[in-house]
Amino acid sequence: MKREEKIPNLVEVLPLGGFDHPLTYGAKQSLYPSLQVGSLVRIPLGARRVIGVVSSLEPEHIPPREKLRFISNLVQPEPVLSAELVNLAKWVSSYYASSLENTLGAMIPASVRDGMSAKTRRMIEVNLVSDEKINNLLARSPKQLEAYSKLKELRGKRVDAVEWEKNEGFSSVVIDGLVKKGLVKQSVAEVERTAYADQWSEGTDDTVDSLLELTNEQTRATKEIFEDLNSGKFHTRLLQGVTGSGKTEVYCQAMEKALASGGGVLFLVPEVALAPQTVDRLRARFGKHGEQVVVWHSHLSAGERLDAWRNLAQGKARIVVGARSAVFAPVMNLRLVVVDEEHEPAYKQEDAPRYHGRDVAVYRSYLNQAVCLLGSATPSLETARNVECEKYQKSVLSQRIDGRELPLVHLVDMRREALKQKVPPILSQQLVEALRQRYEDCEQSILFLNRRGFNTTLFCTDCGEVEQCRDCSIAMTYHRTDHFLHCHLCGYRKPAPQICGNCQSLEIRKKGHGTQRIEDVVESVMPKRARVVRVDADVMTKKNLFRQILRDFRQGEIDVLVGTQMIAKGLDFPRVTLVGVIDADLPLRMEDFRASERAFQILVQVAGRAGRGDRAGEVYVQTYAPHESCIQFSRRAELDAFLEEELSLRKELKYPPYRHLIRHVFRGRGEEKTRFYADQWRKKLDSSQVSGVEIKGPAATPLAKIKGYYRYHLFYLCSSVNHTLSQIQKIRSEFPIDKEIFDYLDVDAHQVS
Ligand code: ADP
Ligand code: ZN
Ligand code: ZN
Repeated sequence: MKREEKIPNLVEVLPLGGFDHPLTYGAKQSLYPSLQVGSLVRIPLGARRVIGVVSSLEPEHIPPREKLRFISNLVQPEPVLSAELVNLAKWVSSYYASSLENTLGAMIPASVRDGMSAKTRRMIEVNLVSDEKINNLLARSPKQLEAYSKLKELRGKRVDAVEWEKNEGFSSVVIDGLVKKGLVKQSVAEVERTAYADQWSEGTDDTVDSLLELTNEQTRATKEIFEDLNSGKFHTRLLQGVTGSGKTEVYCQAMEKALASGGGVLFLVPEVALAPQTVDRLRARFGKHGEQVVVWHSHLSAGERLDAWRNLAQGKARIVVGARSAVFAPVMNLRLVVVDEEHEPAYKQEDAPRYHGRDVAVYRSYLNQAVCLLGSATPSLETARNVECEKYQKSVLSQRIDGRELPLVHLVDMRREALKQKVPPILSQQLVEALRQRYEDCEQSILFLNRRGFNTTLFCTDCGEVEQCRDCSIAMTYHRTDHFLHCHLCGYRKPAPQICGNCQSLEIRKKGHGTQRIEDVVESVMPKRARVVRVDADVMTKKNLFRQILRDFRQGEIDVLVGTQMIAKGLDFPRVTLVGVIDADLPLRMEDFRASERAFQILVQVAGRAGRGDRAGEVYVQTYAPHESCIQFSRRAELDAFLEEELSLRKELKYPPYRHLIRHVFRGRGEEKTRFYADQWRKKLDSSQVSGVEIKGPAATPLAKIKGYYRYHLFYLCSSVNHTLSQIQKIRSEFPIDKEIFDYLDVDAHQVS
């Protein structure tokens, strides 16, 4: 009888480097025991050697013996991903139709992948010897004697050499001398580069929560969340709280509870730079108890990211705060995920992997049987729908803290203002007067300007009408090249009208205003001494400038702050009593079925900036469409009424959240060729009997050309993403496409440009 050949140990590995399926490799007997799911290994792939992540110790696919290749070596002893994150990566790449490589790339910092080592620093401590010996050794070196005496005062404490030398004013030569004489011991320590450790503190007391007595509503919400946490099961809960209702305190309570049970916490904000106060509050609150709060954001240096990553993966830090990519942070034993401002579009990543941070947060909570807490004053329609069908639970904070009133909102009808003057004004007379009054009263104002749209839709300044597609109910895009209006969803087009279809006026316009122009206008109408400062995307690119401006504003050194969405949310300035919204209906003129939702959310958020102190706030909203329901509902922050109406509209049109929207983009340098392939693809789909999908397009994107590429897209509306993707991907694999044309899928697309 033939002796049975020994079967080698098999493991499944996800290669990082141009191959997008897990592959099965053999592992040598000496290596196998140190492999875990998540280990980073080096493997042969074709003629190359690449890095890969062990994804399973029980591979499904067993290759024939003679084809089997072996893992070369283990890159570093600790696994780079937990088994949980490996599962999350698999889900993200399949749901969002992105390569595993891209997904893992988003999860594992480049520095970790490259096996970069932690930075070290030189530590010194005094070596105590007799006075006699000192006198002998240092008699002729007064500097060394002085340094030695200083170090002696530390009573044997180890200190960072560079830092100490700098603080005490000694050169390193002095210390070197002491080391040579054996009077100072030196050693090496790993450095932790705590990100933005001091920069984040705005240095104010009112951001530090002393222990607050919870309001009744906070108490109830907290109790409900505690029950979720105690169950040890997966729950998603919406914390729906008006602006200033104290949601952060509820998050903190939940975090304390999760930490007390030994768990880790993930706290997501739409953008870290826009949430300095939240970060400060968390730091102040949890830093006190010796918890390290890791701040995770895109400006971390490679070293900082590596350290943050290590501290989490090793369980030294249990709290991470960050923007969407932090959803992949290696928090151990995850018990709670908080998604603040869950409705923010910034949670959707626009490059591969095109995931939605909030939805990944929910899925990750599910994998961990943890609690996911979604907070907002203006929940997304998606979340509202999930609450409605009881997939998510809801806790409500309906009152502002201390019973403060929501600010009074005045709608300013800009159609009337436009009639009074030749050129439609930027600021209405009412708003100008209100601004001057605040200045007289030594109170502060915020002027909010919506992000510039593409300025390519047509609207009537006499009646506020926006030209819409007859089929898709979204604003149509004006194309300068052919003077046609295009629907970028279905591709329908018609000549651009010369007169308004609603009121026959000739006042059809295409332009919006930039922040610079508005700053100039404000300066021109305000008294000379008034200080007007503008915040826009340029300011955000300069490190710390934004923080400086916020600090000045808080300290009353700025009278009017002009800006886009950076100043719309999260900020809490007690002395602001006036908020002006310059163009409330701009989002309505954008080519997006989410236009009303955005307009409503922004208005409520911005209005929430007023009257957060002792004095009541007032809001002036300039609009050409005061009749629009999103504008009307936002006046009194009538969330439920708005959600109800908007949900029923979406239901009728079968838009998200009633179906999923997948966007398929074709991109190429030649316009003809790009359109040709998009058209061919549509024909291919039509002849392929795709089921359960409504297909729209192809259409040119609203911004037809970006960075030299023309883009055409199709939209798939469907109930099941999996079902749709598997059909589309199969057909796509049989559809030959020119190598100069690229295409990609964007699942649950937000961006439609
Ligand atoms: P939201 O996030 O809901 O807009 P915040 O969490 O920023 O509201 O809270 C608004 C303000 O109310 C903050 O200054 C906060 O410190 C304060 N606050 C929160 N809860 C309480 C409480 N129970 N008692 C007193 N003040 C509170
Ligand atoms: Zn009109
Ligand atoms: Zn259309």
